[in-house]
Amino acid sequence: MYDLCIIGGGAAGISCAITAGRLGLKVLLIEKNNKLGKKLYATGNGKCNLTNDYMDLKMHYNSADKNYFHIISKIYDDAFSKATPNEQIKEFVASLGLHTISNNNYIYPQSAQASSVVWAMVDELNHLNVDIRLKTEIIDITYKESYFEIKSQNEAFKTVQTVLANGGASYAALGGSLSGYKLCEKLGHTITPIRPCLCGLKVKEDLTDIAGVRANSKISLHLNNRVISESKGELQFTKEGLSGICIFEISSNAGAILQEKEHPQVVVNLLDNDDTDTTYNKFIEQISSEAHNHRTIQGFLNGFINDKLAYYACKLNKIDPKAKLVEIPGKLLLQLADTLKAMSFNINDLYDYDMAQLTAGGVSISEINSNTLESKIVNGLYITGELLDIDGICGGYNLTFAILSGIKAGKSAYVKNQSN
Ligand SMILES: Cc1cc2nc3c(=O)[nH]c(=O)nc-3n(C[C@H](O)[C@H](O)[C@H](O)COP(=O)(O)OP(=O)(O)OC[C@H]3O[C@@H](n4cnc5c(N)ncnc54)[C@H](O)[C@@H]3O)c2cc1C
Repeated sequence: MYDLCIIGGGAAGISCAITAGRLGLKVLLIEKNNKLGKKLYATGNGKCNLTNDYMDLKMHYNSADKNYFHIISKIYDDAFSKATPNEQIKEFVASLGLHTISNNNYIYPQSAQASSVVWAMVDELNHLNVDIRLKTEIIDITYKESYFEIKSQNEAFKTVQTVLANGGASYAALGGSLSGYKLCEKLGHTITPIRPCLCGLKVKEDLTDIAGVRANSKISLHLNNRVISESKGELQFTKEGLSGICIFEISSNAGAILQEKEHPQVVVNLLDNDDTDTTYNKFIEQISSEAHNHRTIQGFLNGFINDKLAYYACKLNKIDPKAKLVEIPGKLLLQLADTLKAMSFNINDLYDYDMAQLTAGGVSISEINSNTLESKIVNGLYITGELLDIDGICGGYNLTFAILSGIKAGKSAYVKNQSN
């Protein structure tokens, strides 16, 4: 009989196992992949963006509970050190022997290798004699009053307490599946509707002409002429839609709108990615000055934007890209300027789970005790990480949540173990 069995050997599960193991619990960590932390290796483009020195609970979303800032702050509250979440992450990884560096507030391992994080974690698990089962997928959990029976296809394990750290449905090749949601549902939990998140957005428009183009832009998500959220950075046009970190940042809100069967727009400002309008004003000045009248409109636009985008913008305004500036009526040129400042795309879907860094929605946090992460429905069951209905924006917020929720569950399981 184990004191604690943890299902899922990702960021949350491993951090939980280390915490409980350090506190002396007899721990079993079960992972369906052939190695631990498979998703961790892929994070931050292989560099693992662990946390962020700019910590604001508004960097997280939740689909249902209006009170979720309060809940997240309790999950992040370290009763012992009072350290902020980013400091807690740095302390935890430092205890594993990992040094970190900051790049514009984004915190990475100094090695710039995600593998260094996984290896340090696995070394600690082995040092603590945590039992690890790889290639073992849990398909059923039964609560038997004083213990849990946890079953894979071929085996059954007994444990006094259980942590679910199965993660979300994204990136099946790295372990993503619906398994955690199914197990939680079977145990009586409510699953808020899940959807891909931190992903690209599919659009109605035909983007064949501009697929592959990248452009520094300011983007805003609109619904019924209202701005819902904004972001800026390198926008990527693909065959099916819009991608890039700036799009990932608004994908949680876009997904929530699509879930309500409404259709938002993304409006792209290709001329300025701040609020100064400097480039836009320069553009207006130049089309009014006659100095460039001898150039083709596509060539002239290419002084400001990618030539394929220039062609696309002309096409949208029914202007021949080969026409000379002097041949185009001023009104049409101003219309073109408006297009570059506010190019609108109709969003009709999210990219698939296999191209989404995260899954939004999940186990309802109203059914979890936020001080302990213990289920309010099943005694001795804890739910952590991406499986919960919390999603963060890019920048290390999701690993912060996964790791700290794992640590909190490990500590809570220890406290309960001592009081039994
Ligand atoms: C490409 C990519 C890049 C990312 N980059 C960053 C980044 O730089 N910074 C950041 O903060 N976040 C990043 N994220 C998000 C981050 O990786 C996740 O939020 C985080 O890994 C979630 O941790 P978790 O432990 O909850 O789930 P996971 O890390 O997904 O771990 C869950 C584990 O459970 C296992 N499992 C599932 N079901 C079962 C079962 N039934 N039995 C046994 N095992 C099971 C899975 O195989 C998996 O190993 C990235 C995600 C992706 C996909």
